[in-house]
Amino acid sequence: MAEILTTQAELDEVFKRLERDYGALSKKQQAYAVREIGRIRAEIADMLAEFSGTDGVIKRQRLGRVLRDLDTIEASIRKTGVDTLESIIKESSEWTTAQLAGAIGVGSSVQLGVNRHVFDYMVKRFESDGLVLSDRVWGMSGEIRDKIASTLRSSIIKGEGISAMIPKIRKVYANETWKINRLARTESVTAKRAATSFNAQESDIVDWVRLHEGVAASRGAYHHQCHVLSEENRYGEGKGIFKPTDSDIWLPHPNCTSYITYILNERWL
Ligand SMILES: [Zn+2]
Repeated sequence: MAEILTTQAELDEVFKRLERDYGALSKKQQAYAVREIGRIRAEIADMLAEFSGTDGVIKRQRLGRVLRDLDTIEASIRKTGVDTLESIIKESSEWTTAQLAGAIGVGSSVQLGVNRHVFDYMVKRFESDGLVLSDRVWGMSGEIRDKIASTLRSSIIKGEGISAMIPKIRKVYANETWKINRLARTESVTAKRAATSFNAQESDIVDWVRLHEGVAASRGAYHHQCHVLSEENRYGEGKGIFKPTDSDIWLPHPNCTSYITYILNERWL
């Protein structure tokens, strides 16, 4: 068993470092998701080349077939999207668990179990919209596909060549990347909060966790659920103090930057 830190101050230090380093991980994951899903641009370019004549123009009569072929491309966005998001969730959970393990004395086999629980929770959880992870990826894929379809439709009807169409597709994708970033960021940070709480459930030195409001709430967005929760005294233990099993603090709202820390048990103080 790893050495257990015995002061709250040392535990707070661990979380300070974790919060500081997490920003870089999250940015890297967003760039990864945008890059992976962005491979569809090459697939679309190949498809357009196949449909175009030697003059680089796609005949209007082929419009229907081009749009049908987009179905395959949408399926490819979905698959890449789900794979990418799942790997981001795993990475966030493993990263968080590894950061906390030494401080709270959770052994390696327990860590594996924690990461598995986080993954199952993340993939199957229903949000307030009633959707699970794959539904959210499908929704996003459909929106990207619709934007690309309408761009291709108007280009083909106008008789534009594929050399003019490809930069337009690139632009459509660039305009949609914020959705990929938001999804990657939200899944990643939720996995991190869930991993923090699941690890607390396994630790002997932590019975309670504390939710800290996100950046927007601290700047005055008091209607954000993370602010409301951080002011709530659910168990009479103090504001923002929850049980590690309270999953409603894992995702107060989309794009939330709130984070969870530990309260050291009194018997360890
Ligand atoms: Zn928030």
